[in-house]
Amino acid sequence: MKKNRFNSIPKSSLVLALSFITLLACSSDSVDDDVFEDIVSTDEEDDEEIATELHAAYSAFNTDAVTVYLDGSEVVIETTGLPNHETVYWGEGNSLYKEEPDVALTPSIMSSNNNATTIRVDATPNLTGSTVQTELGTIGIAVSGSSLFNDQEGGGALDQAAASLDWTGAHIGPGVYHYHLEPKAFTNDDDNLVGILLDGVFLYGRKCSATGDYPTDLDASGGHTSTTQYSDGEEEYHYHIINEVYSTTGSYLAFAGPFQGY
Ligand SMILES: [Zn+2]
Ligand SMILES: [Zn+2]
Repeated sequence: MKKNRFNSIPKSSLVLALSFITLLACSSDSVDDDVFEDIVSTDEEDDEEIATELHAAYSAFNTDAVTVYLDGSEVVIETTGLPNHETVYWGEGNSLYKEEPDVALTPSIMSSNNNATTIRVDATPNLTGSTVQTELGTIGIAVSGSSLFNDQEGGGALDQAAASLDWTGAHIGPGVYHYHLEPKAFTNDDDNLVGILLDGVFLYGRKCSATGDYPTDLDASGGHTSTTQYSDGEEEYHYHIINEVYSTTGSYLAFAGPFQGY
């Protein structure tokens, strides 16, 4: 996973480095001015990336499952992985069990009982870096508390596993309960928040709150820059579920990548 390497440098060590260079600069004419300026500008960039409060979008997450907190320049998202909506995968007898006779069942949520996940994301995505492909496994955490996966299933195309997807585009197999398609339990042809992805960028439904309609300026990842219902009037980069039916599923991929925020 590619990270902004400066995020891992404690701020105190940058201050120390600065003091040291300043000392050198005072005591010797041989210090290269360019080196000094480089370090100063790095420190300024680092200042901009230290968030002091959580993004308002985190208020939309299911608090029964999800705990979110800041740790320096990163946001930690811990989840039980258990969604706050109905699915056949809860298993018969559970209050959120939904009968879905057409779903080719994989194990139920409780029989796997292995849904807990923790991810750490940059509080401020690095949108100036290169793009990074998504990988198998959790690519983000949805507002329901469950994981988001990409368009692959065990290294193959998702089509082969599509029969096991429930009404909200999710299944288990193996490991955590996860969405591949538009999670209709909480976004269905609207602008609702879907979740947070590993690169620190939020994913929204097929429509954008800035216009109330399908965005027409999306990049290859489904991203663009505009206001959202959680951005307090500021424009910020975010993803949308791309409004193109995926294969024979009759639904829409949640997110195929690549990540733009690493
Ligand atoms: Zn899957
Ligand atoms: Zn948008």
